[in-house]
Amino acid sequence: MNKNIRAAFYFTMDFQKRVLIPIANHFKERIITNDLNELKNFRPDFVFTADYSCKTLSEFFRNENVFIMAVRHGAVNKYSEPEDDFSYADFIFGTEYEKKYLESGNVKPRMKFIVTGNPWVDETFRIPNRLLDQNTPTILFAPTYNPEISAAAIPGNKLYELISKVFSDFNLIIKPHPAILDRRFEHLRKYEKTFDEWIAYWKYLEDNFKNVRFIDNPSESISKYFTDADILISDRSSLIWEFIILERPVLLYRSNNQPELWNQLITDLSIDNKLDVGAGYEDINQFADSLGKIFDLHENYYQKNQQNYKNELFGKFQDGLSSFRIAHEIKKIYEEELSNNIIEVAESYIQNNSFEQANKLLNKALQFDKFKTEALNDLAYIEIVSDNFNKALTHITEALTLNPNDEIAWNNLNYLLENDLIDSEKIHQKLNTIFQVPLSIKKIFSFEDYLEYYKSMRVEYRRRNEFEKKLIPDKLDEFIYNGFCIVCNEVVQLKVDFWNAYKNNGERIPNWRERLVCPNCNLNNRMRLTYHIIKELFPDFRSSAVYITEQTTALFNLLKKLNRNLIGSEYLGESVSKGASNNYGIRNEDFTELSFNDGQFDLLVSLEVLEHIPDYQKALNESYRVLNKKGKFLFTVPFNKNSKSNIIRAKIDNGGNLIHLLPPEYHGNPLNSRNECLCYYHFGWKILDDLRNVGYENVFAVFTYSKEYGYLGGEQIFFIAEKGN
Ligand SMILES: [Zn+2]
Repeated sequence: MNKNIRAAFYFTMDFQKRVLIPIANHFKERIITNDLNELKNFRPDFVFTADYSCKTLSEFFRNENVFIMAVRHGAVNKYSEPEDDFSYADFIFGTEYEKKYLESGNVKPRMKFIVTGNPWVDETFRIPNRLLDQNTPTILFAPTYNPEISAAAIPGNKLYELISKVFSDFNLIIKPHPAILDRRFEHLRKYEKTFDEWIAYWKYLEDNFKNVRFIDNPSESISKYFTDADILISDRSSLIWEFIILERPVLLYRSNNQPELWNQLITDLSIDNKLDVGAGYEDINQFADSLGKIFDLHENYYQKNQQNYKNELFGKFQDGLSSFRIAHEIKKIYEEELSNNIIEVAESYIQNNSFEQANKLLNKALQFDKFKTEALNDLAYIEIVSDNFNKALTHITEALTLNPNDEIAWNNLNYLLENDLIDSEKIHQKLNTIFQVPLSIKKIFSFEDYLEYYKSMRVEYRRRNEFEKKLIPDKLDEFIYNGFCIVCNEVVQLKVDFWNAYKNNGERIPNWRERLVCPNCNLNNRMRLTYHIIKELFPDFRSSAVYITEQTTALFNLLKKLNRNLIGSEYLGESVSKGASNNYGIRNEDFTELSFNDGQFDLLVSLEVLEHIPDYQKALNESYRVLNKKGKFLFTVPFNKNSKSNIIRAKIDNGGNLIHLLPPEYHGNPLNSRNECLCYYHFGWKILDDLRNVGYENVFAVFTYSKEYGYLGGEQIFFIAEKGN
């Protein structure tokens, strides 16, 4: 690239300039602005942000050749879960620790995380080592804003008096968290009075004592006060993780209070809550006591911890030159012509039959996730027109492995098939290996377990959603999806139409769970998956004693073929006696009073039945009774994964009257389409406790989803209860 790179830097708060300016200085054509329109008029090649602005910027520059580049917000900011916003960046720069941290929440940039070190701490790493002044120390007081955990609250207005007890001579620099001083934050308005009291006290100190300085400009960076500090007094503020770089004494207010503003999903994922980098205090007596011994405690104990954290957090780059490295990496990206139009350039070479140049560019594009499928399809095309059909098939297979439903890859494949250019048996074998991946099954044992899992899946959920949305055609009323039917054992064109579809903001969303119908076996997504789960989790199904609470369904017929002794039933009411069959050979059973012997079955399967039984507890007891010692109960019910408790929609009162607590919901009855069944429950995680109370030993939910098998539309959830020995 010969022209100058047009480098844009976007900030939302002034203090972010601390990392933006040193990087910007490496570019001749540059702009640093907080104005989006100014940014657009500049026509940048990339925009760099040090804030949660990646989504905003990527939407603002949608369809334009602008890379979004980012470093994470703040020096060591890990109070919340890995920030989804950074998955909208094309490139992220930072430390190995930050990379792992983001990956723990499945947050990845579109193109690459480049390990450069963290530019927020560049200044601090450049502060020279010096001997500490133990007689007349400079104390940096830097409290955070949450009143529950802030060192501004404890010791409060005893601060000066207590320090004076320990040191006859000292300097005090007060540099509170910017949010205490900057009144633009709506959500902090309720603390205004508290903040005013704190500030009044600090002003009073500055006015009355020569050795006190109060820094009341929120935009000023704290790191410049690090140089003089011999001791830091703080709390759970993230700045302690920056100060430890200097390996100097730290005194911390250790409060276990949960700040009101932190939501419940925040757990101690990070090391932020561990305050073992400095001496602590919980009240004002301990404050003076710990401060008195601070230099000894630091040298003998806490300094070692600081060194360990420093290496864990900042890794190999501790030279204060991270912004230099970032600028260098950005230039490298552009020098290698890896701008957004690499594929376009390659395709123009293909059009001119300059395959060698095209090949070179496409292979470069393969190094970046974003371009992979496109590049593979183009490479396949080049091989096809060069009569290298086997090589073409390799590229097609790779593209389909990334996206089993990539349209261009399928076009290339069909071209090979229809023109007999390659052995079709070989193609089918290849396809089977792509699609027949192990079914991923996530077992979840409790609501808390689910919250953890949810956190790790947020970004993945969003990606799946986007993937599914893209499949839906604008005008057609039916479309196909290539998937592997586990029943037919081959890749088939699953059919999707809009039967029982949903509307979301006016857009049609297929009923994925009930559609994706195999053209051979006619089974839909839900039924194929149920079959798959049974096959996967109950390998002895064929030779086991199994009872299933349905007998007139396609799934029953399929399972009956596998296991000739399978027993099924329907609920026929009073017309047929329990355990007997009607004229059509349909057995009648009441789940709350089964006619089977104790311990008769190895496996009991019940799909979407329990929610129709007012006294479902009784049915659970029966399930336990008819299973043998190692027996297992597999079932599905309407389930609200975000609800801890079961949701009761309707009930029968003591007088036998039906009471609706929520608008009545009816589900189809396979025996009679006019006779619909009332749904009494939507279950929550309490169902697992219900099962444990009945006596089941091992109880869990199973979450599954698969693009390869066509199990789309959010995860389907099964429950499994095992009796144990
Ligand atoms: Zn099939």
